[in-house]
Amino acid sequence: MTASTSAPAPGPTPPNILLAHHLRQLKLPTVLREYEKVAAEAAREGLDHVRFLLRLVELELIDRERRMVERRIRAARFPAVKSFDTFDFAAIPSLNKPLVLELARCEYVAARDNIIAIGNSGTGKTHVCLALGLAACQRGLSVAFVTAAGLVHQLMEARDEKRLLRLQAQLSAVKLLIVDELGYVPLSQTGAELLFEVFSQRHERASTIVTSNLPFDEWTSVFGNQRLTGALLDRLTHHVHILELNGESYRLKQSKARRRKTAQPAIEIANSDTAEDAGS
Ligand code: ADP
Ligand code: MG
Repeated sequence: MTASTSAPAPGPTPPNILLAHHLRQLKLPTVLREYEKVAAEAAREGLDHVRFLLRLVELELIDRERRMVERRIRAARFPAVKSFDTFDFAAIPSLNKPLVLELARCEYVAARDNIIAIGNSGTGKTHVCLALGLAACQRGLSVAFVTAAGLVHQLMEARDEKRLLRLQAQLSAVKLLIVDELGYVPLSQTGAELLFEVFSQRHERASTIVTSNLPFDEWTSVFGNQRLTGALLDRLTHHVHILELNGESYRLKQSKARRRKTAQPAIEIANSDTAEDAGS
């Protein structure tokens, strides 16, 4: 009939194209990327089909976990990614190292405990929070990092735009909320109340880390209200681990050490000058 005039019927789709399509649909990108290589390996090593499949599936699982951790880190919005590997505990003797290492195992998150880190500026509070936040991401926990001022700003903006409930729900949902730098900026009455609500909603439901340069007895100056501060401390410190970071600023100490190093030759020259002067 007309068959001779129409284009030849397409042949069956090659299996590798179909496989690629199905693997994409099943969201198995690592299997897709690796199966040819692993198949060649399996042939070389004489692996049976089950072991070939096992190797591929293990690769997918490892990659999936790495992608999940990366997603958690991005979602946390850390200002920088820092870990305990680069933290020098010897520089801050007031910090309870065994407690910090214990906290790095993140069991306090399951227990819904809080952490408060108190200490003067530059002593490593933010670094410790970032490292604890990273450890939580690596264990697959959802984390959000904010500064107290930034959080209050977000809350006020959400309230003005009538999406406060949504933001509050998002903040309640994260397993670990890190609120850095409470105390640097005094809060307005509304700001203090909104922040209080966040802590209150998380109380005994999820963990919160707070850092402050102020000792507890000065927190009233931030919240501007003794009753609110009392209620807030009551909730935050109910199940709490306190980290004390008191000492000289790490950066200041480092730059002093650097200055001492570069100043050293000048002193030696000065000394040799005086020695010559004395000798002549
Ligand atoms: P804080 O938040 O207490 O003001 P930071 O955590 O911001 O202090 O520390 C200031 C800088 O010094 C950061 O770059 C931090 O990584 C570094 N730093 C502070 N303490 C240490 C430490 N003990 N070991 C390594 N780096 C540190
Ligand atoms: Mg800081």
